[in-house]
Amino acid sequence: MSQPGIPASGGAPTGLQAQNGAASASGSLYSNGPVQNALVSSQISVNQGYNSQLPGSYPHLIPAKTLNPVSGQSNYGGSQTVSPLSNYQGPGQTLHRPPVASNPATPSLHSAPVPRMPLPTSHNPAATPMPSGSFLPGANVHPPLNWQYNYSSTGSQTNHCPPASSQPTISGNTNLTSHQYVSSGDPSFQNNFIKSGIASNTNNGSMVVHNSYDEIEGGGFLATPQHTNKNPTMSRSVGYSYPSLPPGYQNTGPPSTTGMPPSSLNYSSGPQGFTQTPLGANHLAASMSGLSLHPEGLRVINLLQERNMLPATPLRPPVPNLHEDIQKLNCNPELFRCTLTSIPQTQALLNKAKLPLGLLLHPFKDLVQLPVVTSSTIVRCRSCRTYINPFVSFLDQRRWKCNLCYRVNDVPEEFMYNPLTRVYGEPHRRPEVQNATIEFMAPSEYMLRPPQPPVYLFVFDVSHNAVETGYLNSVCQSLLDNLDLLPGNTRTKIGFITFDSTIHFYSLQEGLSQPQMLIVSDIEDVFIPMPENLLVNLNESKELVQDLLKTLPQMFTKTLETQSALGPALQAAFKLMSPTGGRMSVFQTQLPTLGVGALRPREEPNQRSSAKEIHLTPSTDFYKKLALDCSGQQVAVDLFLLSGQYSDLASLGCISRYSAGSVYYYPSYHHQQNPVQVQKLQKELQRYLTRKIGFEAVMRIRCTKGLSIHTFHGNFFVRSTDLLSLPNVNPDAGYAVQMSVEESLTDTQLVSFQSALLYTSSKGERRIRVHTLCLPVVSTLNEVFLGADVQAISGLLANMAVDRSVTASLSDARDALVNAVIDSLSAYRSSVLNNQQPGLMVPFSLRLFPLFVLALLKQKSFQTGTNARLDERIFAMCQVKNQPLVYLMLTTHPSLYRVDNLSDEGALNINDRTIPQPPILQLSVEKLSRDGAFLMDAGSVLMLWVGKNCGQNFLSQVLGVQNYALIPQIMTDLPELDTPESARIIAFISWLREQRPFFPILYVIRDESPMKANFLQNMVEDRTESALSYYEFLLHIQQQVNK
Ligand SMILES: [Zn+2]
Repeated sequence: MSQPGIPASGGAPTGLQAQNGAASASGSLYSNGPVQNALVSSQISVNQGYNSQLPGSYPHLIPAKTLNPVSGQSNYGGSQTVSPLSNYQGPGQTLHRPPVASNPATPSLHSAPVPRMPLPTSHNPAATPMPSGSFLPGANVHPPLNWQYNYSSTGSQTNHCPPASSQPTISGNTNLTSHQYVSSGDPSFQNNFIKSGIASNTNNGSMVVHNSYDEIEGGGFLATPQHTNKNPTMSRSVGYSYPSLPPGYQNTGPPSTTGMPPSSLNYSSGPQGFTQTPLGANHLAASMSGLSLHPEGLRVINLLQERNMLPATPLRPPVPNLHEDIQKLNCNPELFRCTLTSIPQTQALLNKAKLPLGLLLHPFKDLVQLPVVTSSTIVRCRSCRTYINPFVSFLDQRRWKCNLCYRVNDVPEEFMYNPLTRVYGEPHRRPEVQNATIEFMAPSEYMLRPPQPPVYLFVFDVSHNAVETGYLNSVCQSLLDNLDLLPGNTRTKIGFITFDSTIHFYSLQEGLSQPQMLIVSDIEDVFIPMPENLLVNLNESKELVQDLLKTLPQMFTKTLETQSALGPALQAAFKLMSPTGGRMSVFQTQLPTLGVGALRPREEPNQRSSAKEIHLTPSTDFYKKLALDCSGQQVAVDLFLLSGQYSDLASLGCISRYSAGSVYYYPSYHHQQNPVQVQKLQKELQRYLTRKIGFEAVMRIRCTKGLSIHTFHGNFFVRSTDLLSLPNVNPDAGYAVQMSVEESLTDTQLVSFQSALLYTSSKGERRIRVHTLCLPVVSTLNEVFLGADVQAISGLLANMAVDRSVTASLSDARDALVNAVIDSLSAYRSSVLNNQQPGLMVPFSLRLFPLFVLALLKQKSFQTGTNARLDERIFAMCQVKNQPLVYLMLTTHPSLYRVDNLSDEGALNINDRTIPQPPILQLSVEKLSRDGAFLMDAGSVLMLWVGKNCGQNFLSQVLGVQNYALIPQIMTDLPELDTPESARIIAFISWLREQRPFFPILYVIRDESPMKANFLQNMVEDRTESALSYYEFLLHIQQQVNK
């Protein structure tokens, strides 16, 4: 706990916080430096730390307007920021910094020219219209952006992070972390923690494991400082330069593609004699002709005149303005995209644009095609450990130049042979250099221990409340149905724990005639009875497992036990899994009431409407601490919360967040009263149980020298500076990072980003999945705006706003979102447009920015009003942090279609199926009509609203009912009727579902159905009692922008 008395000023963290993934709190919400935006300027440097504090104790911390850096509280939503000193492991370890070989004791993280981040100098509150007037932008502290780097060259780390400096190595070392916990305050937690800390240490060489992951995956700029500041061959333009906009702007003609002839790859200027097909420095000469931007993209739009900018087809991500030969090799934007597809050359330019710079990743997405390379040599840069990729340049056959640090590396002999073409001497044709997404089978150097078997442990709440919901039946049945589909091999292990006020283990040892239940009632000091028989080989004990799953739902039907000892049960489960790691699936139906981790209700219904939400932070550190223990032992915890009452998801969710697990939430689950939830759980379980899984994973994201990643969003633990620890990785998880431009990029035309995910597959193979994204660097503000990716920007802002809600307040977060729009559009107006037109002028790229931000303000995470229950809000925030961008956007701004008049016009034809493509409609009741039927696709949910006067044809030919009154109250399926109307809508819905890995439930909603409110709530363009309509919002923005 950070003590109230500890000054949290000066950016001095009080603990090892960041090491623990504690959020940067407000430390670096925004990379853009001194931008006047609440998401931005509130960067109060913080000691967040691990030392989180109990919410409520420091009410003065809530508003983010104090001069004093706020402490802590970043547990829940906070992002995790690279930790400065505590991670320091020797010279050259830091990523994205020029390799400076300096005194190891003095981590010179910067090269001389950029000793520190540019400190905000131009705080100019006047420049930023503040709608609420409640926030003084940048007034405060400076926030040393990336404060962690600011002091490093002075060697004064001890001043800033005393505990860290006294520890020799920090990364992920359980032992050290436990010290840290001890010092962190609340005695009641300490004891527990110490216990579990010891437990984890006795479990074998976990400490070795942790530290070595970093070494295996490779740190930042290790060794060999070959500091090539210039990249002389890259002197020509890579992308097309956008013409500056004429003052009249509208319908500017397409930029003429004068200049170089298209794609004449003559390589005349490069090192002689060697032609590299995909890309090389020499390729750049020919690349000026590429222009992927449609002329439409150069339009300036007055949103007050052209209100409906929503395209009728799903919005596509912008294509980076690169030569087509480079672009065709680029990473798929579904996997990896950047908020700005044209990277500003300097931080100053980025600051001017007032747009956030960051990456959104979906690194483990299910892929239809994935090149897999098995080779004894994985070619990586000797300096920065980047994997060879399509955007490196070959100087000749024997040397390649790294596109991240510019080191020239040798091409290993083996790489000279191309197994695909069976040709020798074409290193640039190797699959590694032809695919931006690739997977390597990792040789033994990438293993710290033999790959562990897949281990699945299920932990079930069997209290009276749990039994009442009837969930056990569904879950056990799902497990029975999918038992053979669990990813794994002959080594797969499985186990079960149930709990109420006591903890029950199940021996499933081969040879037993039936499962044997063992009850441990000492929840103060949980021990594991016969540990060897509790996690058993699934193949060998399959019958016993099936027996247990069949009997479990009946075993507790008469229970009167209402208490819930969740904390002790989790401790027991952790101990059981520690030796191997694996996946723990926890089902909980109420607030835990017994033992460690017990919680008290703290939701006050009349506070729901208040924007000053105070219970977004965890009320105890227990779940986070345990999650960090789990992370250290390669255990991820997935939480299924099925509860009608407040269950403090803000606290419980930490168990998944820091262990890289997932959270599922089923409010008011009941097997009879809420059949829709039952179906949802069943569908989601099916996906959950059978989807791909990676164990013992770590992920690192690298970027071209000059750029720096400083804040991470998602479920994981930042282990050492920038190594994300993911005990499990699943294909449905998304991540985001924020970046800044630390050194100007004037010497380069291209920058690259590479994510590398090292994991153990369920078959026991060690694999590395690598994605590389290449983007152009630009020098003008207009180009930065033209390349803006509005979905990625909105997604990153949503992540930042979750942090902001937690570290400051919900109303601050909302202001910050609004200010993000105002600031960027003001910047555009004042710096790009020469003539001051009336209206609300936006670049084409940002035409949906106000709409998406308004949609975020109305999203469950950030909405005001009485209908947001606390746990639902927290869950929505979890989703923002953990969902891939595409689903986050569908949740925020669903797609609406009219479906009672589907036709084959413009339909897709896929494998003899005709799939209608109705246009996407604006989210406004104006678009609805009572004589129609409308389908809303909100990602995980499809809602079909049927108007009262809907045509008889639709009722009978699609719904199969004779009249409106006969539509069932609860209808989650469309009958397959032998009519063209039925075939069309079923084809359309199936097609929507096929495009996502999970199964969105369909709700058919009658006009008087209670579900109608959910449907209407998504009408983001309409006014509600607590929120502006889209038009009013535009007027507000315009007023602020034109001030
Ligand atoms: Zn390199």
